[in-house]
Amino acid sequence: MKIYGIFGDPIGHSLSPAMHSAAFEVMGLEACYHAFLVQKGSLRDAVLGAKAMGFGGLNLTIPLKEEALRVVQPDDLALAIGAVNTVSFCHGISGHNTDGLGAKKALEEAGAAIRGRRVLIIGAGGAARALAYTLARDGAYVSIANRSRARAADLAGHVGGSAFGLDELERLVPGSDIIINATSVGMKDGDPRVLDGELLRRGQMVFDIVYNRETELLKDAARAGAGTLDGVMMLVYQGAEAIRIWTGRDAPADAMEQAVRKALAARARGQA
Ligand code: NAP
Repeated sequence: MKIYGIFGDPIGHSLSPAMHSAAFEVMGLEACYHAFLVQKGSLRDAVLGAKAMGFGGLNLTIPLKEEALRVVQPDDLALAIGAVNTVSFCHGISGHNTDGLGAKKALEEAGAAIRGRRVLIIGAGGAARALAYTLARDGAYVSIANRSRARAADLAGHVGGSAFGLDELERLVPGSDIIINATSVGMKDGDPRVLDGELLRRGQMVFDIVYNRETELLKDAARAGAGTLDGVMMLVYQGAEAIRIWTGRDAPADAMEQAVRKALAARARGQA
């Protein structure tokens, strides 16, 4: 029985164990997947421990994705993005980033073309880095708006985009084809709106990578007649790519999506 897991802090509410367990079952793998609380500063010990115990692979989440660059051997993509979300023990201890690919696949599946489009990414954290790098590489004109403008400027400089503060959204949103919320705003009930919904219009695609609930942003986008996409399929596709890295096999995205939606529904009913 191979053990896989996700390390992070906090980690109790991760949907990855349900999603990956469903995939392993469909794939007929003798494997299990668990969530482990690993605090900042402890990643090296935890990764070496997992390797020593024969783990099959790991996912990493907040706040460990950047620290991992100093702990594992990052591949070119993880290095270019500046964050690792997947660790493989197949050859040494290698680090990968599947968030950008997951987001891109989800957008394409929702019918959004990327090349030549004006993409506004709100946020400049780990997930925004993966999105900005991937979409800019695929020919989008990327603008980054972030609460901390300095962090937006750093990311925009890295991917050849433009940087803005959140106070400039009123001007930026109407001229954007794809608007992506890559902040954590919207994860909790009662969170403020990340932007004024009146700015949205038909013909735009609004992608909120938050996946644990329907956010006010997506409700506003639907009211405005814009296309909407939540974070579930990005979660599924980044997880499917991690499985491909660990096992060399295609993962069953349908079963993974079903498991995530079932876990979310149970959570909404207060059962998990
Ligand atoms: P992170 O590195 O901690 O970055 C958080 C971002 O949110 C930063 O840009 C931060 O701005 C901004 N932010 C936080 N609180 C804010 C507020 N009150 N007002 C405005 N901006 C605020 O986190 P991350 O890893 O990028 O994750 C961000 C979100 O993406 C989370 O909700 C996470 O669950 C989700 N996510 C989804 C997937 C998926 O597969 N669907 C994958 C990865 C992440 P500052 O720089 O100014 O602090």
